[in-house]
Amino acid sequence: MAAPQAAYEELLARWREVHVLDSCGGLLAWDQETFMPTGGGPHRAEQLALLAGLKHARQTDPVIGRLLSEAERGDVVADPDSAAAANVREIRRLFERSSRVPVSLQQELARTSSRAREAWKEARAASRFGTFRPWLERLLDLKRREAEAVGTGEDSYDALLDEYEPGATARQLTELFRPLRAAAVGLVRRIRDSGRTPDVGILRRSYPPQRQEAFARRALAAIGFDLDRGRLDTTAHPFCSQIGPGDVRLTTRYSPHDLALAFFGVLHEGGHGLYDQGLRPDAYGTPVGMPCSTGVHESQSLLWENHVGRSRGFWRHFYGAAREAFPEALGGVARDAFYAAINRVEPSLIRIEADEVTYDLHVFLRFDLERDLLSGALAPADLPAAWNERMHRDLGLRPPDDARGCLQDIHWSLGAIGYFPTYTLGHVYAAQLFHQAGRELGDLDAAFARGEFRPLREWLQERVHRDGARRPPAALVERITGKPPGPEDRIAHLERRYGELYGLSPGSAADEGGAPVS
Ligand code: ZN
Repeated sequence: MAAPQAAYEELLARWREVHVLDSCGGLLAWDQETFMPTGGGPHRAEQLALLAGLKHARQTDPVIGRLLSEAERGDVVADPDSAAAANVREIRRLFERSSRVPVSLQQELARTSSRAREAWKEARAASRFGTFRPWLERLLDLKRREAEAVGTGEDSYDALLDEYEPGATARQLTELFRPLRAAAVGLVRRIRDSGRTPDVGILRRSYPPQRQEAFARRALAAIGFDLDRGRLDTTAHPFCSQIGPGDVRLTTRYSPHDLALAFFGVLHEGGHGLYDQGLRPDAYGTPVGMPCSTGVHESQSLLWENHVGRSRGFWRHFYGAAREAFPEALGGVARDAFYAAINRVEPSLIRIEADEVTYDLHVFLRFDLERDLLSGALAPADLPAAWNERMHRDLGLRPPDDARGCLQDIHWSLGAIGYFPTYTLGHVYAAQLFHQAGRELGDLDAAFARGEFRPLREWLQERVHRDGARRPPAALVERITGKPPGPEDRIAHLERRYGELYGLSPGSAADEGGAPVS
């Protein structure tokens, strides 16, 4: 049976090359967002397009198909639980998916989304939806054709969702989101009725960026992000990029009058970075050495940003250092007042500025609208009105213009339909994983207060990171926590944290039935 084994090894070597090519594009994209002079734009676009073409050609090379068939015949896959079997399964899935989309359609999508992105920028700057509308129509049409070519799941939406969250379906997500929506809407109403409004002004005082950076680096080091195998730079739109094993790059942006923006942004990207640094370097480029899904990646950033970074224990440890770094701003501020400020809940128009409770409401709105856009139930021309109506129903706010309404996110201009729900999946997975970690590791809040973050980081590395994309996300979560992804732990986390902070009486869950705030 030497042939299947040899085929398997060649398959892995070729698949790894696909990822090495991809990482070259990643490095160029990182540079574009950080240091590239604006004049470099056109040539950079040419470089990225060439690399994307080379990657697609390698990924869909018929040789991959032959090697897969060969490997699937042998002992390599005999044990379905082995890493080799997982690699073959996952490469087969990705190979089939990318091979089904014709190259001409891929290129048209790339060209159209690149121009749509420019149109979106212009539309958002002028707050004129009409500038973006024809591009959205074209993109939706192309995405319908892509979904049809891919042909997985119950409908077009499932086929697109599968790219970000393998195995997830709109039907499951609708089930999962219903109780989460009711809980968030009810919690927002009870918080409003509590009459408590923490003073967020203390976070908007003078915070010199240089000191913010030093403080953020200190927190990054404490949670265990290895700056010898990573970097932190500044950019307009923060992100985390894994260039390869040993090179994970985080970016953030500093505002001299906003402490929370950069600090929690760094913890968020740091969580993504810990995932990338925790992957198995020896398996780089093969499924077991790559991230599981967009939702699982997001769970790691949200876990460190919210469950750790916004906890009382974290600030019992860090508040002294924060006061030392910013004595003018925080010298006279009690720790409890600071804690209340960083956890203030208030409905707002912009998703990326939303707090932990209202965030999902922004996601559910997008999830419902993008399914309607894709199916044709909602015409793009009617999007602004539908958006504003839903914002009013769920968050009690009416966007004054489309820039602060349906034009605020870049996703649809990139053709990323099916991406938004992964943010909420990230919240769901994070709560479930954090709850399980607490059961196994003991009182985590007390550990954070002592500055101990290593046990949690190592637990996540062993359970989540080292598993890579060995199994689908829902199976990964179930394997670690003993139950499939569900709303319970997320709701319990929100009730606990915000019930305590806002003095809400427990047991008022009964009135969370559904009448949204208005
Ligand atoms: Zn993220």
